[in-house]
Amino acid sequence: MEQRDFDVAIVGGGLVGASLACALAPLGFAVALVDAAPRSVLAGDPRKLALAAASLNALSALGVLARLGTPPTPIRRVEVSRSGDFGRLCIEADEFGRPAFGGVVLAGDLGAALQRSVDALPGLRQVRGRAETINGEGRTLRVQREDGGAETWRARLVVAADGAHSPLRASAGIGVDTHDYGQTLIVTSARLSAAAPGTAYERLTDSGPCAMLPMSGGRHGALMGVARDQADALMALDDTGFVALLQQRFGWRAGRVSELGERSAWPLISTIAERLTADRLVLVGNAAQAIHPIGAQGFNLGLRDALSLVDAIEERRGDAAVDPGTEAVLADYTARRRDDRERTLAFSDGLARITATTSPLHRLGRSLGFAALNLDAGLRAEFAAGAMGFRGRVPRLAREAA
Ligand SMILES: Cc1cc2nc3c(=O)[nH]c(=O)nc-3n(C[C@H](O)[C@H](O)[C@H](O)COP(=O)(O)OP(=O)(O)OC[C@H]3O[C@@H](n4cnc5c(N)ncnc54)[C@H](O)[C@@H]3O)c2cc1C
Repeated sequence: MEQRDFDVAIVGGGLVGASLACALAPLGFAVALVDAAPRSVLAGDPRKLALAAASLNALSALGVLARLGTPPTPIRRVEVSRSGDFGRLCIEADEFGRPAFGGVVLAGDLGAALQRSVDALPGLRQVRGRAETINGEGRTLRVQREDGGAETWRARLVVAADGAHSPLRASAGIGVDTHDYGQTLIVTSARLSAAAPGTAYERLTDSGPCAMLPMSGGRHGALMGVARDQADALMALDDTGFVALLQQRFGWRAGRVSELGERSAWPLISTIAERLTADRLVLVGNAAQAIHPIGAQGFNLGLRDALSLVDAIEERRGDAAVDPGTEAVLADYTARRRDDRERTLAFSDGLARITATTSPLHRLGRSLGFAALNLDAGLRAEFAAGAMGFRGRVPRLAREAA
């Protein structure tokens, strides 16, 4: 079997693995990327993703934003409310001297742009196929190519970017903490007759979140959480029935809902890895933590994993022969991720759980909480910094607008 040696082998070319390849390969490392899914999967993803300002900075610096078919639609204002509660949070980016908190893209458009960026990387070995570890060690991989061939890869560092069910994480013996929220998120798009420009709405309801994200062409990406056991029946509703349901769940704050797009359904289960590293192996993206999408943080957090890993490697690059898989790099990566990861997980999980409670006492607390958040400048600034992706130690590429 053909054997190849690399500095870094990335397993999983989803949004996070592909971003990591774009950040790492130009630095002169010998990098390989393998993904098991056909190219059409990444480019065909129908979801609407809210990208934080920090993510837009990084994707711009990597040249990915310039390859999007449609530029991100800016989010200038965020409005969070809870049906039946009196509190409401309204926050505007220009209060913080920023043009926007971030922007909304079609996941498939971002996937295709990343794929084009990866294709343009000189020297990257890119393979369609499936990788597995040999002897349970992180360093040696067997890569079964889609064309029927097979290769052995030896890498100084293996990056598991292989998603929530990460086979590499399992083979390294890293455990996970899993929580099933009992909800399914239905994703579609719609038109709102009276939406405030550039506004992302998050309406929290008893059966889960209902969000509207501003998109190009005056449309909104719509996300609605429903109880898992009702999801099939609600997916089967005709458009008229579904629009009525969406209107009832979202309310009339942004006017009439119409012109529904295609629907897709996503079960909500979080999977959090107990640690981020093993011998010459690091976890990034959903392999490290797959979280409830309520706060639109998953890819943003995963991208910051990838960028922090690059920073940890770069910091030790006194000479060209830096070993990216040493204990020092791995420990630094874990340390760089600690604060951001903990706070983002707490935020997303807390929001997901608090929205599900219907007890009158909790409702009162929640309403007062929103009211406090609306009035307290410090809390507002912290909320805004989180929404923009500036939590903890911000990776270098995420800091500056290019
Ligand atoms: C409905 C919904 C809405 C969301 N909205 C937002 C949002 O607005 N903002 C945001 O930031 N995040 C959002 N997220 C989260 C975001 O989509 C994920 O965090 C992100 O896509 C994870 O990317 P990833 O590359 O880590 O993992 P994945 O996308 O799961 O990619 C893993 C890749 O690994 C490959 N793979 C697996 N095993 C192997 C193997 N053995 N060999 C080779 N390849 C392998 C797979 O083929 C796959 O391509 C949302 C999530 C959902 C479900």
